[in-house]
Amino acid sequence: MIPLCDLKQQYLAIKDDVDEAIRQVLAECQFILGPNVKAFESEIAEYCGCPFAAGVGNGTDAMHLALRALGVGPGDEVITTPFTFIATTEAIGIVGARPVFVDIDPVTFNIDPAKIEPAITDRTKAILPVHLYGQPCDMDPITKIASQHNLLVVEDCAQAIGATYKGRKVGTFGDAGCFSFFPSKNLGAMGDGGMVVTNNPDVYERVEMLRRHGGKVKYHHSELGLNSRLDELQAAILRVKLRHLDLWNDYRRQNAYRYNRMLAGTAGLTCPAEHGSDGTFIPTGEDQPQNNLLRCVYHQYTLLADNRDDVVAVLKDLDIGCLVYYPVPLHFQEVHVNLDCRPGRFPVAEQVARCCFSIPMFPELTEEQQSVVAAVLKRTVADGEDGRSVYAAA
Ligand SMILES: *Cc1c(COP(=O)(O)O)cnc(C)c1O
Repeated sequence: MIPLCDLKQQYLAIKDDVDEAIRQVLAECQFILGPNVKAFESEIAEYCGCPFAAGVGNGTDAMHLALRALGVGPGDEVITTPFTFIATTEAIGIVGARPVFVDIDPVTFNIDPAKIEPAITDRTKAILPVHLYGQPCDMDPITKIASQHNLLVVEDCAQAIGATYKGRKVGTFGDAGCFSFFPSKNLGAMGDGGMVVTNNPDVYERVEMLRRHGGKVKYHHSELGLNSRLDELQAAILRVKLRHLDLWNDYRRQNAYRYNRMLAGTAGLTCPAEHGSDGTFIPTGEDQPQNNLLRCVYHQYTLLADNRDDVVAVLKDLDIGCLVYYPVPLHFQEVHVNLDCRPGRFPVAEQVARCCFSIPMFPELTEEQQSVVAAVLKRTVADGEDGRSVYAAA
C-alpha cells in the first residue's frame, strides 16, 4: 500500500518536539488566543515577508473574513476559477457576493489571466486567484488588471504555502492572502486552522476583530462577527512544523521531478508542467528545471489521462493512493445552479475535470514507491493494459 499522503510518518519524525509543544500548552492552560497563536502569527508574517497575519479557524473562514474585511458584499462580483475546491466560492457566497468564473490555463490549471478582463463588469469588486496544487498563478498580469480596473485581489493560498513567484511568497501580492492548515496541506495542523496575511493594517485589524465576535473591546460589539480563532494547541503544533516546511517542500519538488523523469514520454499521459521564466512552460522529464519565475511546492502531483477512470480504478485496486481533485468543476455544482453556467462554458476546466487524477505526493515518499506507481501507470495508461501484473512483479 502506498498512501496519497502519509501524516503518520511525518508525525513520527518530529514526535518529541510536537509532544513537548502540546505538553507546554496543557501546562499553561491558555487555550484561546494564547502566546503560541501570537508567536505563530509573527512567524508566518515573517515567513511570507509581509507585516500582518491573523490566525483563524480554517482556510474557508480566512477567505470569508478577508473578503468581509475588504468590504466585499451583496451586489459585488468576484472573479475566480471554476477549477478549485468549493471553499473558494463558499467564501464569496457567504459574504453575499457572486462568483464569476473564468476558464483555466490548460497547462497549469490555474486561472487564465487572458480571460479575466472580458469578465469584468461594473459590479466586479475583486479577483480571487487560487494557487492550485502548489503552483503560483501568473500574478503579474493579474495584479496589473486589478490595478487598471481598481479591483481587490485576495489570494487562495490553501495549497501553496511557501511557493514563490518572482522571488516573492504567494499571499503577499494583493490585499490579502489566505492559508489553510487542514491536516493534509503542506503545513498541516492536527485539526483545522487558517491564517490571513496582509500588507494592510486596516485589513488585519478588521479580520482580527471579526474572528472574535466583532468588537475591539471585550463585550462591546460593533458588528456581527463570528467565532473563528486559530486554536492555541494547533498553533503550538504548527510552530514546530513551520521549521521543517522549506525542507518538506524541497522534498516534494524533488519527488515531482523524479515522477516527471520516470513518466516522461508515456503516450496518453500528461505530467504537470511549470509556468517558466520566459512565459513558456517547463516541460516534464527535465532533471531539475531552471525556473526563475516561480517555485512550485507540489501540494498535489496531478496528471491527465484520457482513460482516467480506468487508471484510477486500477490504482485503487492496488491500494495506491489516488484521488480526483476535482471531478466536478464548480460551475456544475448543484449549489451554483443559479449562476446558470451551461456545459461548454468553461471548456478547459471541464476537460481537465474529466482527465485529471493525483498520485501519492508527500515529502517522505521514496524512490522505490515512486517507481512502483510509475510502472503501474505506464502500463495502464500507455498500453491500455491492466497494470496489476507490474505491481505483482514489483
Ligand atoms: C483546503 C482548501 C481550502 C479550505 O481550507 P479549509 O481549512 O479546509 O477550510 C480552500 N481552498 C482550497 C483551494 C483548498 O485546497
